[in-house]
Amino acid sequence: MALIELRGVSRRYTLGAIEVRALDGISLAIEAGEFVAIMGQSGSGKSTLMNVLGCLDNPSEGQFFIDGQDAGQFGPDELAALRRERFGFIFQRYHLLPHLDARGNAALPAVYAGVGSGARGARAQALLERLGLGERLHHKPNELSGGQQQRVSIARALMNGGQIILADEPTGALDTASGAEMLRLLKELNAAGHTIILVTHDPTVAAHARRVIELRDGRVVKDDGTPAGHTPQALPPAPEAPQVQQGGWLRRWQVQWREAVATAWLSLQGNRLRTFLSMLGISIGIASVVSIVALTSAARSTFEGEFQSVMSGKIWIWRGNNRLPPGAQPPSFRLAEIDALRSLPGVASVQGERQLPVLLRHRSSDANLNARGADGNTLYERKLKVDSGRFFNAYELSEGAQVLVLDEQSRKALFKDSESPIGKTVLLSGSGATSGGLGGGDGSSILPGTTPATAALPFTVIGTVKADTQLGINFGNGIAFVPERTFIQRLDSRPAVDAFSVQMDFTQPPEEVLRHIKHRLVALRGAENFSSWSGDSEFRKMQDVTAGFAALFAGVGAIALLVGGVGVMNIMLVSVSERTREIGIRMAVGARQGDVRLQFLIEAVVLCCLGGLVGVGFSWLGAQALNAAQDKLAVTVSWSALGVAFAVSSAVGLIFGTVPARRAAALSPVDALARE
Ligand code: ADP
Ligand code: MG
Repeated sequence: MALIELRGVSRRYTLGAIEVRALDGISLAIEAGEFVAIMGQSGSGKSTLMNVLGCLDNPSEGQFFIDGQDAGQFGPDELAALRRERFGFIFQRYHLLPHLDARGNAALPAVYAGVGSGARGARAQALLERLGLGERLHHKPNELSGGQQQRVSIARALMNGGQIILADEPTGALDTASGAEMLRLLKELNAAGHTIILVTHDPTVAAHARRVIELRDGRVVKDDGTPAGHTPQALPPAPEAPQVQQGGWLRRWQVQWREAVATAWLSLQGNRLRTFLSMLGISIGIASVVSIVALTSAARSTFEGEFQSVMSGKIWIWRGNNRLPPGAQPPSFRLAEIDALRSLPGVASVQGERQLPVLLRHRSSDANLNARGADGNTLYERKLKVDSGRFFNAYELSEGAQVLVLDEQSRKALFKDSESPIGKTVLLSGSGATSGGLGGGDGSSILPGTTPATAALPFTVIGTVKADTQLGINFGNGIAFVPERTFIQRLDSRPAVDAFSVQMDFTQPPEEVLRHIKHRLVALRGAENFSSWSGDSEFRKMQDVTAGFAALFAGVGAIALLVGGVGVMNIMLVSVSERTREIGIRMAVGARQGDVRLQFLIEAVVLCCLGGLVGVGFSWLGAQALNAAQDKLAVTVSWSALGVAFAVSSAVGLIFGTVPARRAAALSPVDALARE
């Protein structure tokens, strides 16, 4: 059985209406170990025949057997495997990859056989040394002479074994001495058991072969036939290196992944400006995505966390609402009404707010404020901290001392910034503007024996407080705190309050508790003449705002990523057409379509991930700037943001790299090689 057999093989090209028969009914058989020269004038079909023999091209008609197997039945991956494992190509123009050095070029076929880089490099080095290129391992093709480049391509042909060496005009571009050297090497390889098929138009070159097949117009016009006495020989294993063994799919994938990343890196480096520009869209997109993650998590950990700790489970109720007719003064909450709420499900405690609108005067400054009863828990409950002076001591609380503590707003209303309010005396009188609680209603009076407009009690300011949160929520006017006892004794002794707060025990949903409270109050008071404010629903509103911002950012990010992705796709398509020859070379040495697809996909992913990294850099800078400009929100670009950036960039790369990668993989090896 012949190693290679063609039966009636034709290869036609149709150029418009014209049909070219590059091969026209070729039948021949070549035994293992032969040295055959295929001769003929230019255009006689030699290269076409070579491509068919090397499984780079499919015949239009006829059959092609290799080891008795019909190659016409093979799929693209099986043909790639044949090229990789059985054939070694030597081209007239060497077809080395310009960005790889001699060793990298020689080792290329082993990449697609799944050989690790160590073993690959060692074998390539051994082959190159044997070919006299030991000193040139790290030279790029453009740093090598023609003869040296051709020897590198011999090393490449031998890398995976090279049982059948197909050399298309290997001496065509060489000077006489290099050409002679080339022929000597081919003879040596033949003597070592390799089958050599040499294409040439030059009879003196063909004379070195032991059999000459002559073509004219795609037909065999002369064939010496296998020399008499030729014994087909199996190729002994190469002595100079361990036999290249095939890796499993996982190993192969690993090897290729590395090769693809390295290639991607080289090709991106070769076009730095282009790389940078096409990364830009991705960078902007990723910067917005990372900013969303950073900002929302910062907002959550500062604002939301505090808000929740202050407000969660709290409901405030006060009398009156804006649905009542103007001027209407609904009654205050009687303590009995408040007590009735304590038994409702989900209610942990109810705290009456002793509060009254008052007028405070310090020298010539007047301020309408709220006086509020305070006890030892007030600082904690209101999330306040002492800013200057102190809060009430036990003596003041129990004795009903005429002292008060101002919050920030009330302090600003009464005192200049430069002035310390501590120890100052202020005059407190009932406020005429909101007189509902002031001695009206049930007839109990504040400031007994006086009328609100004229009576004024002296109070000593002992301290100021400010919010102990970043939230800075202000409800209405400023507040002057007085000891609760003082409040009852001196300001308002009614068994009623104008407002109260409810703390829930979290056994019921907040909305349910609020509904029950409202229901009960309406039943007790006969009308809904009060307002409520629920910490939880406010919290939810705030979350909605945060989510809105996040959605906005996400929209910007998505658009930028889309634009960036299209940019990457575009640049990758350009890259595929620029690198067609490289793709052809990779396919000739045995890359599967899947390998080529993987390579371009990885390049797209690498490009996008680089862009993503720059984007993370942008948002990191942004975060630093933001942190320098304000101190309410501490924004950090976390590792998780980096992870998100990486995942999103990879996804964009995979999505937008698909079309270019498919296009690269769909190239036919001959067409790809033919293009310069
Ligand atoms: P050789 O290598 O002997 O010079 P080729 O095999 O390259 O000849 O070409 C044989 C014939 O086929 C020529 O007439 C050439 O023009 C034609 N041919 C080769 N490749 C193509 C192609 N891709 N498309 C159209 N015609 C082609
Ligand atoms: Mg040719």
